[in-house]
Amino acid sequence: MNNSLQFKGKFIIQGVVHCVTGLHIGGNTEGFEIGGVDNPVMRDPLTDQPYIPGSSLKGKLRHLLEWKLGKIELHPNHEETYGPHWCGECPACVIFGPASDERQIREKAGPTRLTVRDAFLTEESANMLQQWLGEGMFTEVKTENALDRVTSAANPRPMERVPAGAEFGFTLIFDVYRDEDPKLLKELFSAMAMLEDSALGGSGSRGHGQVELRNIRAEWRSLGYYTNGEKPKPINAVQNKRIKEIVSGFQESDWKVQ
Ligand SMILES: [Zn+2]
Repeated sequence: MNNSLQFKGKFIIQGVVHCVTGLHIGGNTEGFEIGGVDNPVMRDPLTDQPYIPGSSLKGKLRHLLEWKLGKIELHPNHEETYGPHWCGECPACVIFGPASDERQIREKAGPTRLTVRDAFLTEESANMLQQWLGEGMFTEVKTENALDRVTSAANPRPMERVPAGAEFGFTLIFDVYRDEDPKLLKELFSAMAMLEDSALGGSGSRGHGQVELRNIRAEWRSLGYYTNGEKPKPINAVQNKRIKEIVSGFQESDWKVQ
């Protein structure tokens, strides 16, 4: 075991994912009821409300960061697909975990730093959507047409989506094990900035899934927070800032872990 690793605490980064356009994160169609819509969205089975799975958000951020870092490479032993990076050393591997079962590589990377919680509709959004759509309704069905190039006959393709304007509360948890770990936050934030000019979920190239990250706030919870009631330390550098400003103004001194 690498003894330079020691748990020091967690940065908790929160805010809302604001849907600038309709959002479609595809759900399971298996066992879907007769008369249900094609292309349903993911739903929380407890509340029946749509949500953004942490895995979707984490996967998208990783994808954006790997492109930014130029880490889109074929694994030497699995050459069929361009999967997540596996080296164990680059920021993508350390933040998101290396796609490797090899012990040496996993040890080099240390524990996966980032945890992404499922993002649920804010209470305000859930109320707003029901005002627009009706009690217990949180989604709309958008029908797109693929036109026959000769006859112009339409081939309609319905898709369920969360309407523009909806907001989901997100939480990212970044664990710190080494003094230099907070430097990696700049990479994470740049992936978040790229997300605003990319898309979440399906049909992004056709306008779905444009999002903004709003109301961003962050705090440091040291080891003492978990052991003897130490207070969390708010990170003032992110207050009232958009993600692009957080990246461009990033200073390691704002993210000191002592
Ligand atoms: Zn890597």
